[in-house]
Amino acid sequence: MDNNSVQQRLKCHFYDHFEASDSTFLSAITPQPLDNPSWVSTNKDLAEMLGISADEMASDTCLGIMSGDLTQYSINSFAAVYSGHQFGVWAGQLGDGRAITLGEIAVGDNDELWDLQLKGAGPTPYSRFGDGRAVLRSSIREYLCSEAMHGLGIDTTRALSLSTGTTTAVREQVEPAAVVCRVARSHIRFGNFEHFHYSNNPKAVKELADYLIQRHFSAWKEDPKRYYLLLQNCVLKTAKTIAQWQSVGFCHGVMNTDNMSILGDTIDYGPFGFLDIYNPEFICNHSDHQGRYSFRNQPSIALWNLNALATCFGSLLDTNEITDCLKQYENEYLSQYRTIMATKIGLLEYQPQDEQLINQLLIMMANDQVDYTLFFRKLCDFSVSNQSIRDYFIDRDQFDLWAETYLQRLASQKLTDKQRCESMQQINPLYVLRNYMAQTAIEAAEAGDYSEVELLLKILNNPYITHPEAEKYEGLPPDWASKISVSCSS
Ligand code: AMP
Ligand code: MG
Repeated sequence: MDNNSVQQRLKCHFYDHFEASDSTFLSAITPQPLDNPSWVSTNKDLAEMLGISADEMASDTCLGIMSGDLTQYSINSFAAVYSGHQFGVWAGQLGDGRAITLGEIAVGDNDELWDLQLKGAGPTPYSRFGDGRAVLRSSIREYLCSEAMHGLGIDTTRALSLSTGTTTAVREQVEPAAVVCRVARSHIRFGNFEHFHYSNNPKAVKELADYLIQRHFSAWKEDPKRYYLLLQNCVLKTAKTIAQWQSVGFCHGVMNTDNMSILGDTIDYGPFGFLDIYNPEFICNHSDHQGRYSFRNQPSIALWNLNALATCFGSLLDTNEITDCLKQYENEYLSQYRTIMATKIGLLEYQPQDEQLINQLLIMMANDQVDYTLFFRKLCDFSVSNQSIRDYFIDRDQFDLWAETYLQRLASQKLTDKQRCESMQQINPLYVLRNYMAQTAIEAAEAGDYSEVELLLKILNNPYITHPEAEKYEGLPPDWASKISVSCSS
């Protein structure tokens, strides 16, 4: 066997680490393979990053492993236990109900470890009433959105492959099952900490924190402030990720504490949605009746979740340290958000008076139901002589007033229109994964045609340049898009 193959490179440091103490953290579990597996898509760029050659990725071995067939290999796969607050209420034990981690592979000169995890490869001890499966439609959404977020420069779990087979899962109807091979620097959630904190196990909380420090922040290993640094890192990284979500119009949909990554990456793509028209009240999750996870609420919900996490650090830090960490969230969020939004409108740096300029614009966009992504892309071409974005607004007089202030602000910078346009196009995407785009790919895939998945993967991987073959995705969404309804996990 090739020593460099995926199955040889897969190690289970997580397992080794905790096996030495006890296995409170995880359960060994073997995936249930999909019957008659076949690829829907493989992610060549990510494979390359992981040091998996195109030939290897295309092999039956990879197809087997990534659709859950480990029979020929000694891979110590496992499911981890976690708990969490769902919709603001303590939900008790949850855990990887349909996710099985295969191990990590070391990548690059620094041997950076990346977890490989199969989502939808059968039940685990934490499946409760679920079947451990994921259907093709939700898997396509996860596969594409992970890569869309990566393409937008937002730290996220990645998706290496998507396979299906003749296995089915019963949801509202019988549907094809699928497996996403998810790749992440860490799959540990706030909920992993909550599980041990609320089961009165501070020893396990400490072990988990030590594990994270050893794996991700080894420079802090001997630092007396290491637990503070770990929590602070989570607070600051979460603030940055949420600011990025708000700037691209991404709505996660289920910001439960078990869906929040301890590294602050975006994780768990379910009923997410990108804004079409700018509507701060947008609720993408059909089951979120109160709008707890509406677009507007995301920054404050993230802080609520961080509070829940910080509580679990009570055995590692004193109250002042915890409060001090949490206090940093708001400033970090605002500073990140303002900087990104200023860049989106072509400003070299954010100045205090820009807050009004940005807020006024967003108010006008909300009032006149302007498409979020298209507007900012068109704004790249705006100049004294090209004010075609005026057509997006119903209240043109108000727009003219705004444009006058905006032009004055632009004139204060020493940039040509062309220079500004070029830099704005690098932050204002032409394509985001709108629900109707995912739906188009799903319907084609369910009929056996995976070309739309490939097309979307390609354009979302680099959403800042024009892809002539995807011209149909450059305009406003079709009327039927507003009828799509997405709810929790499927
Ligand atoms: P999610 O909404 O995907 O974040 O899932 C919430 C919890 O339910 C997690 O513990 C999941 O692992 C579990 N879960 C969701 N769907 C299934 C399923 N089909 N089978 C088993 N567990 C599931
Ligand atoms: Mg989840």
